[in-house]
Amino acid sequence: MKTHWINGEWVESASRETFPVINPATEEVVDHVARGHGADVDRAVEAAFAAQRDWKFVPGIEKAERMHEFARRLRDKKEEIAILLTREGGKPLIENRDEVEWVAACFDYYAEIGRDYKGKVIGPVSRHQLNFTVKEPYGVVACIVPWNYPLLLMSWKVAAAVTSGNTVVIKPSEYTPLSTLALAEMLEAFPRGVANIVTGYGPEAGEPLVKHPKVSKIAFTGGVTSGRKIAVMAAEHLKKVSLELSGNDPLIVCDDVDLDVAVRGAVWACYLNMGQVCTSAERIYVFQSVLEKFIEKFVAFTRSLRLGNPLGPDVDLGPMITQAQREKVEAKLEKALQAGAHLLEGGKVPSQFQKGFYYEPTIITNVNHSMEIMRSETFGPIAPIMPVKDIEEAVQLADDSDYGLGASIYTNNMEYALYAMRDLLAE
Ligand code: NAD
Repeated sequence: MKTHWINGEWVESASRETFPVINPATEEVVDHVARGHGADVDRAVEAAFAAQRDWKFVPGIEKAERMHEFARRLRDKKEEIAILLTREGGKPLIENRDEVEWVAACFDYYAEIGRDYKGKVIGPVSRHQLNFTVKEPYGVVACIVPWNYPLLLMSWKVAAAVTSGNTVVIKPSEYTPLSTLALAEMLEAFPRGVANIVTGYGPEAGEPLVKHPKVSKIAFTGGVTSGRKIAVMAAEHLKKVSLELSGNDPLIVCDDVDLDVAVRGAVWACYLNMGQVCTSAERIYVFQSVLEKFIEKFVAFTRSLRLGNPLGPDVDLGPMITQAQREKVEAKLEKALQAGAHLLEGGKVPSQFQKGFYYEPTIITNVNHSMEIMRSETFGPIAPIMPVKDIEEAVQLADDSDYGLGASIYTNNMEYALYAMRDLLAE
């Protein structure tokens, strides 16, 4: 059983409640963790608040040394942490090794950024003035993280916050808290209380954290529904908030590309981490003139993908994160098929696995923008392919969306590329 990590110590929940973390590939319990509530959040925030009084005065050079030390310790344990990420999250091990490396690199990067910049001097308006701005830390920052890249998305928040003199309370996803807790050993590179981890569910542990009067800023990555709730709670308490939310990204394939390159890119964009990436391609628009050839190659390459236990070698795709997420994808596909979409490949739970939340990478055609699958995030391995007559139609359809997270285009035509850069509505 794993507990919260508060003020440099392992701490059970005040309620003593726990919950299980399930391996999505085997459905076995990996471990149990503490189920946090308001009392646990309060303890963590008080520790972070007390630690911030001194941490904000620690010079940049010392902060940087501690950040680099965190990165060194993490690299030493890379394989162990990558295996734990795989067991609780289901991404193939090879990708989790990358994730661990990116986290270390993120801490190394912010270590130096934190030393570099503290504000600026602004030209005076009259002779007697010296005007300058000094960047001050917020105080305690709540870092609320989803399950698909549990450590990477944590690091983008924590490294930036800590290097700027803030302290943090991290609330990992209820599905993937173990790899975050395993970082406690590395977080000992910082003084006690600078970084704290509270585990639990969104409404039980996340909400009290957002509302806590001593939390000044919320950094959140997750779905639109939770993000909207958090924005409302933050507004009620007049708190700063950063939200990184859902997507339904378009990918455009023009008629001038090497289709072998475009197909490999598109397959990767649709199925990486079983489509459970915020910037997964969820709508593919292909110029009519190359549609047939593109589909033929896309189907062939999709068929070559190897599903399997994500800890094993030679595996391209592991399971989805939960049974509920898989059911959501199945329901979405069913609706699209009822509305006239054509199933070209996949669309089933594969028969070779007795356990685990596996799903076949799926391709559908004959789709249009009245279908929900083209309008809301699926977060699963479904690739809908739609023909377009030219670049204008492709961009117009790509932009016909409530989202605007990411977008991709495959072309060698500079005019198309610049047009897409200007007119595609993506962050
Ligand atoms: P989620 O919104 O269900 O949960 C994210 C985190 O918020 C979890 O830690 C959860 O416990 C917590 N939470 C949930 N409700 C809360 C509440 N009311 N108050 C406080 N905390 C709460 O998202 P998820 O299912 O874990 O992740 C998938 C979603 O995340 C997808 O929509 C995906 O697009 C999005 N995402 C976005 C990015 C990005 O950078 N834009 C990156 C990764 C994932």
